[in-house]
Amino acid sequence: MSGHVLIDGAGVGGLTAALALARMGWSITLLERSQLKKEVGAGLQISPNASAILRDLDVLPRLGTAALAPRAIHIRRGRDGATIGRLPLANAERRWGAPYLLAHRGDLQSALLDTVAAVPSIRIETERAFAGFAAMERGVTVTALRGAESASFAADCLLGADGMRSLVRERLNPADATPRVARHVAWRALVKSDRLALDLRQPESTLWLGAGAHIVHYPLRGGRITNIVAIFGGTNAIEAGADIWAEPGDPRRIAARFADWDRRIRALIATAEEWRIWPLAERSPPPIWSAGCVALLGDAAHPILPFLAQGAAQAIEDAAALATFLKPGCDVPAALAKFVAARRARIERVQRESRRQGLLYHLSGVPAACRDLAIRALGEERMVARYDWLYGGTPIGNASKNRRFS
Ligand SMILES: Cc1cc2nc3c(=O)[nH]c(=O)nc-3n(C[C@H](O)[C@H](O)[C@H](O)COP(=O)(O)OP(=O)(O)OC[C@H]3O[C@@H](n4cnc5c(N)ncnc54)[C@H](O)[C@@H]3O)c2cc1C
Repeated sequence: MSGHVLIDGAGVGGLTAALALARMGWSITLLERSQLKKEVGAGLQISPNASAILRDLDVLPRLGTAALAPRAIHIRRGRDGATIGRLPLANAERRWGAPYLLAHRGDLQSALLDTVAAVPSIRIETERAFAGFAAMERGVTVTALRGAESASFAADCLLGADGMRSLVRERLNPADATPRVARHVAWRALVKSDRLALDLRQPESTLWLGAGAHIVHYPLRGGRITNIVAIFGGTNAIEAGADIWAEPGDPRRIAARFADWDRRIRALIATAEEWRIWPLAERSPPPIWSAGCVALLGDAAHPILPFLAQGAAQAIEDAAALATFLKPGCDVPAALAKFVAARRARIERVQRESRRQGLLYHLSGVPAACRDLAIRALGEERMVARYDWLYGGTPIGNASKNRRFS
């Protein structure tokens, strides 16, 4: 009889973990509090370290042409649009073994759900909110609520993939602080690309840097729409417990914030009719990341500031790493402890580098001029090489073996 894993949360991390562990022979139940029907969020950059795993799990073919491979990340000066540098990505597959992709979050979610639907050993219970667990002699019993109705689920293992405000994390670490709230918020919008000037419609991810702020925009869905993310200082609604996916932003506020930026950025901002605010937060891995038959993955374990675009990518890496250690019939607590030990250093490095990248992006005055000079002096080849550890890295540090699931 195959063992049973319960995963709390059917986000990118939970769905990928379900696919990776089902390949190992586990039967999986995913508990998801939402209906999973709404297209949530906006664009997502899927770096090669994550796309390699999605390809191995047969998710990439289902994403198909909804994903776009940009030719470069184009870094520009916010004030006047001057090019600071370029990170070429056209050779991503040759250099890092997998493509760099841009996709709508809803398209990735659909591709993951379609792949999951084709695996008989995975079951999703939607509108089931995890409420708590009890450790048993072997395995766990989980309580989940659908409205007022309560149900119990027994499993060999519980994985908390329930995002930044994880209840599983809270249960494992009652004294752990709430997410460390960054001083920045992300404003996100989607616009029809045919409303933009040609300069803003290139098949690349464009990064505009300015004092205390930056803007990223890139094409999605074959270039028909453009995703815009603007990050700058502002009140952080997460403390008030707001619905972090649905907080609307006043277009006049963002227009005023970028009023002294290049005219193309002002035009880009003016094109967007609807802005949503996404508060930024990060959290170090908790003191108790796994205990007995329970462990955390993705944002539940380590929300990462988005300056390296790695939050979902690291959740995907967690999923692959779990499948390396967790096999049906294994000593589950020992396997989960090995998973945590194998992931900690890479996660801490990604969090550190993301923080550092944010500081570099938002420099002003002389330090900003020095940063621009340094990027120019670096040149494309050395710039690309700086990302080898990340894009060419594997979830548990060595061997590409741990990406293979069959
Ligand atoms: C502005 C911004 C831009 C970003 N851009 C990128 C990018 O380009 N590339 C990238 O890799 N990452 C990016 N990220 C990070 C990325 O969005 C997250 O790291 C990623 O979504 C985390 O996935 P997850 O599955 O761990 O958590 P989530 O996506 O938060 O999923 C958690 C799931 O658990 C469910 N859930 C929660 N509580 C319960 C409960 N009690 N019971 C049942 N279900 C529950 C939720 O409904 C949800 O479905 C960005 C983040 C920000 C803020």
